[in-house]
Amino acid sequence: MRIVLATNNAGKLRELQAMLQPLGFSVLPKAEFTSEEVVEDGDSFVANALLKARHAAQVSGLAAIADDSGIEVDALAGAPGIHSARYAGAQAGDMDNLNKLLEAMQHVPDAQRSARYRCALVYVRNAQDSAPVICEASWDGSITRVPAGTGGFGYDPIFWLPEQGCTAAEVSAELKNRLSHRGQALKKLLESLSRAQAC
Ligand code: IMP
Repeated sequence: MRIVLATNNAGKLRELQAMLQPLGFSVLPKAEFTSEEVVEDGDSFVANALLKARHAAQVSGLAAIADDSGIEVDALAGAPGIHSARYAGAQAGDMDNLNKLLEAMQHVPDAQRSARYRCALVYVRNAQDSAPVICEASWDGSITRVPAGTGGFGYDPIFWLPEQGCTAAEVSAELKNRLSHRGQALKKLLESLSRAQAC
């Protein structure tokens, strides 16, 4: 089945393609259809994922999957949350965002550095789909004081996984896909889709 992925984020694309391709999906990035960006002005991960999914379906004429995700830090009252991609400004890159977060957490004691990644995944059959499939998941961890690891993307080098004893940038891609907010949300989404097919 051909499906469009509504993201230009290279890290997300890599992870979602790695998870979907072995299942027989032919996954096309939205960039193959347009360079247009959607204004992500929703007030939740789900609202933004829905905007992106409808837009990708519209420009491609295909069913679409969109991910909206981010990191919530308890000591910062849930920031950067839905603003994670642009935490350090509109043109900010991953390192700018990560450094801004480390700076904001500079004086936060170890016991108060809890955080979680959140992901909303939305599947639409077409741009007007009135029954989108929506799945959410989160991944708990905490914020380190220095970056470690070269895998993953975004905030992974400062996202500490207590059970693994390392950051999300130090685990293998396979393990990250199994444990992560995105991997767990995709698992739920695929279960919903196969239940819907069976009906
Ligand atoms: P979005 O593209 O608006 O959904 O923004 C997602 C942002 O959240 C990314 O640019 C990263 O900063 C952050 N993020 C989401 N998922 C991950 C992840 O798996 N690892 C690291 N950072 C992530």
